[in-house]
Amino acid sequence: MTKFTVLILGSASASPTLNRNPTSQLINISEQYYLVDCGEGTQLRLRANKIKFQRINHVFISHLHGDHYFGLMGLLQSMHLLGRTTALNLYGPPELIKVIEIQLEVAKSTLSYPLIFHATNTEQSEVLYEDEKVVISTIVLKHKIPCTGFLFKEKEKPRKINIEAINKYSIPKYALNRIKKGEDFETKTGEIIRNSLLTFNSLPSFSYAFCSDTSYNEEIIDTIKDVNLLYHEATFTEEHLERAIKTRHSTAREAATIALKSNVNQLIIGHFSNRYTNLDVLLEEAKSIFENTHLAEDNKIFDVSKTQ
Ligand SMILES: [Zn+2]
Ligand SMILES: [Zn+2]
Repeated sequence: MTKFTVLILGSASASPTLNRNPTSQLINISEQYYLVDCGEGTQLRLRANKIKFQRINHVFISHLHGDHYFGLMGLLQSMHLLGRTTALNLYGPPELIKVIEIQLEVAKSTLSYPLIFHATNTEQSEVLYEDEKVVISTIVLKHKIPCTGFLFKEKEKPRKINIEAINKYSIPKYALNRIKKGEDFETKTGEIIRNSLLTFNSLPSFSYAFCSDTSYNEEIIDTIKDVNLLYHEATFTEEHLERAIKTRHSTAREAATIALKSNVNQLIIGHFSNRYTNLDVLLEEAKSIFENTHLAEDNKIFDVSKTQ
């Protein structure tokens, strides 16, 4: 089984509480680390979880409200102080790079590593990153300022080789890569050996959608449909619906409704207003619509590969 986990580094909204930092999450897909949002205190949460900063090569920032990126400058600086030379890819709204550059400029500082900035298109969903294992794209959200979520999708995995059959048919090693992709094998005499005789079905592929600050928005359903795990903010309960509408946030009931309509397997709610000292009211409200709901808690790990 390949690894696919979500580590919650911050689950509070605008300001931190004793147990909750502002938003940040670390996604681990096959031991590649992707940092999503970087609220104040993220470095300490990474340290507490024994995550080496230098293993992060991609950072995604949803929008430019401080509770989603005020920890970024400190993290960039620490990577520099630790002697990083590997390039860091940073994805976020176009103005983000200006904020970083002005801070470096006034400090007369330059980073020891290349910072490669990719401006996100906050109007239209797009692919931000792709390799042989994963595709990462944006989810356009509706908030007070331009904001995107991020969709992490594992690609279809290679078929598993049936070693016994490979030996039985004397398949040469050079052919194995193509066989893993599903191709049949043709012998020198022109005999076709079907792929189904040589392989087992591949492992399932998983997906995770991170929906940062947003008002209730059914337009995202197409993009996040059928994901294994959905994170959706739930800043308020229905009791404070008016406040949610005014601040362009969601209630727990709304987050759960999106989960239900998107046919996801599991929902995490987070970004809780600090007016709620007991989060059970949020959890119960969400569960009344979508039973498989969990609360984001700092330092908690969700295993996406166990959410089928
Ligand atoms: Zn926020
Ligand atoms: Zn916000």
